[in-house]
Amino acid sequence: MALVDECIFCKIIRGEIPSFKVWEDDKTFAFMDINPVAKGHALIVPKFHTPNIYEAPQEWLGPTLGAVGRVARAVRDEVQPDGMNILQANDKGAAQSVFHIHFHVIPRIVDDGLTMNWDMVPGDMDEIDKLAEKIAAHTASE
Ligand code: 5GP
Ligand code: ZN
Repeated sequence: MALVDECIFCKIIRGEIPSFKVWEDDKTFAFMDINPVAKGHALIVPKFHTPNIYEAPQEWLGPTLGAVGRVARAVRDEVQPDGMNILQANDKGAAQSVFHIHFHVIPRIVDDGLTMNWDMVPGDMDEIDKLAEKIAAHTASE
């Protein structure tokens, strides 16, 4: 297991810092966020230190997303929210504050005031089409 000493989530995985654990297997760990933005706010991490989605090896992303689904269903069953957002931040511009990749499970209630929603405004289809082609070229060359 590739964990590092100075990372707070690696410390949580190793049990050096206490956490409210909700799931663990050989590759993943999930625990409650101690600054919850909603009742049931939980975090899911791989047992592999990697800072973000760009660097995360595919073999760790798969099991981690599986655990996200498992925890999301568990939180839904217990909290019974109106909906659920899965959030994952990369870099400071996206307000990432802990640099060990993690997925937030955030239960939502209608009109809860959390500012993660946006109005749907149709884009320029020509522009979207051209950008999609360029992005597809990048994904193909990975
Ligand atoms: P980010 O801003 O990087 O997407 O989210 C980091 C999250 O980690 C925040 O929601 C923050 O509350 C949570 N967090 C930071 N330190 C700790 C900790 O020591 N224990 C737990 N359970 N959560 C933490
Ligand atoms: Zn770490």
